[in-house]
Amino acid sequence: MKKPVIAIDGPAASGKSTIAKALAARLNIPYINTGNLYRAVAWFALKKGIVEDDLNDAGLKPILDVMSLTYIVGDSGYQICVNGEFPGKALRNPEITALASPISAIPSVREWLISLQRNFADSGMIVMEGRDIGTVIFPEARYKFFLTASPEERAHRRLNQGGETVDGATVESVAIEIAERDQRDSTREVAPLKQADDAIFVDSSGLSIEQVVDFILDKIRSHFSQYRVPYADTDQMGVVYYANYLEYFERSRTEMLRDAGLPYRELEKEGFFLPVSEVNCRYFSSAHYDDLLIFKSIVSEIRGPRLVITTEVFCGEKLLVRGVVTLACVNKAGRPCRIPDILTQACPVIP
Ligand code: C5P
Repeated sequence: MKKPVIAIDGPAASGKSTIAKALAARLNIPYINTGNLYRAVAWFALKKGIVEDDLNDAGLKPILDVMSLTYIVGDSGYQICVNGEFPGKALRNPEITALASPISAIPSVREWLISLQRNFADSGMIVMEGRDIGTVIFPEARYKFFLTASPEERAHRRLNQGGETVDGATVESVAIEIAERDQRDSTREVAPLKQADDAIFVDSSGLSIEQVVDFILDKIRSHFSQYRVPYADTDQMGVVYYANYLEYFERSRTEMLRDAGLPYRELEKEGFFLPVSEVNCRYFSSAHYDDLLIFKSIVSEIRGPRLVITTEVFCGEKLLVRGVVTLACVNKAGRPCRIPDILTQACPVIP
């Protein structure tokens, strides 16, 4: 089964953190920046007086043996805690940035961080950004994106990034530093930076944060099915019967759940049933015989036993109908019950 993870991978300064954070806020789910984990190892290693000759498995062993890395949830989200200390902003210092890359190429460091990263997906949908999330950490991630931007744009962004000390650095020298880091990250032997085969490529050059987030949200909600209208589904004028939309919504919903790895029968096996309790439709334009209809379904609300699915029906770019279907979850005894976690984890809620 797919993991409830939205993986955002990409090179340095490609805007991953900004986008991942904004996306997580829109979806109201946690966001994990895995680069900070490598930075935390670098921070601790520096504290322990690491020297260049120690940048290998043997040199890192005594450091990893005594290192404890946890996330503490506070007012400002997750905070990294290393052996009881909070490195905070120090993780963004230039010397940590420079050391994190060679440190992340050391196999035992990556190995050490794997289970920590995998545990994050145990309690529901998360946004996780890094270099190898879609390839190594969660090859089964439900959604995968590979985000990049032109070298110049990335250098500009890095220079404008709040909290980072880049005194005197010019766009050109920063672009060179970024390119070197990319080169090292993508040619290293373990978990090199590369796009997963099934990841969606996003070039954010020239796009605003909102535009990129909207693009990603649109892909996430694109559980779309297509359906060509047969004559039998239309009236004498060749216009689709409104009643048929209910059946179309049902079909699209079933496909959405199946795509999420959770067919109805799986839910029923677990003892959950989802009868329809309410349907609201708004018709904008009519569909005709032989039109190719595109259905986009999303889970738009989960509250207690209520699961709301919004389906938009398009013909080309034109919105024809928006249907809002409320399902009421009941157990085997026919009593209303909370929407099960397996369902919440499989489909993110997009309000
Ligand atoms: O993303 P950020 O620049 O904070 O990452 C710091 C370093 O950690 C990167 O240069 C990269 O080498 C490494 N990293 C990694 N795998 C990840 C995240 C970051 O190798 N999943």
